[in-house]
Amino acid sequence: MSEGGGLGVSVVIPVYNEEAVLPALFARLYPAMDALGRSYEVIFVDDGSRDRSAAELRRQYQARPDVTRVVYLRANAGQHAAIMAGFEYARGRAVVTLDADLQNPPEEIGKLLAAMDEGHDYVGTIRRQRQDAKWRDVASKAMNRLRERITSIHMTDQGCMLRAYDREIVQAILDSREVNTFIPALAYLYSGKPTEVVVAHEERAAGESKYPLYKLIHLNFDLMTGFSIVPLQVFSMVGVGISVASFLFVSYLALRRLIIGPEVEGVFTLFGILFFLVGVLLFGIGLLGEYVGRIYVQARGRPRFLVRSVLGAEPAPPGEGG
Ligand code: UDP
Ligand code: MG
Repeated sequence: MSEGGGLGVSVVIPVYNEEAVLPALFARLYPAMDALGRSYEVIFVDDGSRDRSAAELRRQYQARPDVTRVVYLRANAGQHAAIMAGFEYARGRAVVTLDADLQNPPEEIGKLLAAMDEGHDYVGTIRRQRQDAKWRDVASKAMNRLRERITSIHMTDQGCMLRAYDREIVQAILDSREVNTFIPALAYLYSGKPTEVVVAHEERAAGESKYPLYKLIHLNFDLMTGFSIVPLQVFSMVGVGISVASFLFVSYLALRRLIIGPEVEGVFTLFGILFFLVGVLLFGIGLLGEYVGRIYVQARGRPRFLVRSVLGAEPAPPGEGG
């Protein structure tokens, strides 16, 4: 990371209804950043919060206008779209993403930047001790393994958003006008020299998780279908296998009927097979729907986010989320 004249680090933090945790975040983030001795800016993206987060952010901007910028989105756009919005405004050579809830300690940012100094353009993180609920831990491990095999994106710990990207990677992410994306995975695709460092992980400091089980499952669907067509191919293969097997089975039944004569006892077996086939079909239609849905969303071409106002921005960024 060369500090050739420009700003050293941009820290991008999406904020959605986090009034409970923001004071604690400010109290730890700013001293940690000051201690690094690098030029930096913190970009908060208020993702359409309905609590007092917006006011808290304004207060913090007034307290540290030199290093703080706040981007207010018009409506809730989702965590990753909010980060994208932050990317649009980030000016640093290195861009660090961080959650607002203090699950990833801001004191670890220095570690990521040190790895960037060594020439890495993408620094992922592995949580030393997961502090999530047990089922989440197990579920996310299983998903990780599956994702890695399907998408060839190597992320030991996909759930951790404390990550650092080089300027060029951030630009590439902004240029790929993708909706419903997963930023760390996209960044990994573009990275030439990725690495991972181990960071501490804490319990959410206050407030509650914005990711219920449903959203978590959907995120993983996005990851699979957004970065790979293997699920589609697997499904076609399964389809081929089943067609061949059923063809053989039907031929056998026909022969048997010709040679031994009609029979009724096998009816339930046939039902069993039928239901199985219907199940496979429905799953396949759902899978197709995932892809068609992505095409639909992409074809619609709605903006990923809409900016209402910005605190502390001098030049307007080139585009608005497009
Ligand atoms: N977030 C956001 N928009 C959303 C949901 C979440 O900006 O629609 C932010 C949230 O404020 C937090 C980060 O994304 O800073 C991660 O959310 P959370 O901690 O709830 O996720 P978890 O850690 O439980 O997976
Ligand atoms: Mg969290």
